[in-house]
Amino acid sequence: MPSAPATPQEIAAAIRNVPDFPKPGIQFKDITPVLADPRLFAGAIDLLTEKFKPGSVDAVVGIDARGFIFAAAAALKLRAGFVPVRKQGKLPYQTHEQAYALEYGSATVAMHVDALKPGARVLLIDDLLATGGTASAAAALVNKLGAKILEAAFLIELQFLNGREKLKGCPVRSIIVY
Ligand code: AMP
Repeated sequence: MPSAPATPQEIAAAIRNVPDFPKPGIQFKDITPVLADPRLFAGAIDLLTEKFKPGSVDAVVGIDARGFIFAAAAALKLRAGFVPVRKQGKLPYQTHEQAYALEYGSATVAMHVDALKPGARVLLIDDLLATGGTASAAAALVNKLGAKILEAAFLIELQFLNGREKLKGCPVRSIIVY
């Protein structure tokens, strides 16, 4: 008999908190135990894609680097393409770039100029929504190509950082909220 689908509570129980990584004061949410468990990994993908049927999304856009893992699996499930948003300097072809503010300084993400067709229906996925800087920069790149974000979906949301505020105009959904 197939096992019951994994619940958000079960997935949350597998996420490992690593204090002071990558720097003091940050509590890192380590999702590798979720990936390593076939039932939890499948459950995470089912939950991230639950609003959509195969064929209703043209592209799943994933954010460098852990977002790629979830977005690629979601794309396969939805029979959609996969499009990477990468850190600056990693993509080989012509790119559009978008800078965003960090606590100290700034960072830049990039997407190939021909990654999405105008009007393409996009599901944007990352592992975790914190301040929203990364996801809003990725959303800006999607919008620049004239594609439409149906939803921005995250396995984890750190609600106290108000990342949703930066994603106004785009439906945001998260599976596990801290
Ligand atoms: P932000 O731009 O602040 O929303 O940060 C989101 C990005 O940083 C995501 O790609 C996450 O993978 C990563 N990130 C931020 N905070 C954490 C954390 N506490 N644990 C794990 N990843 C994090």
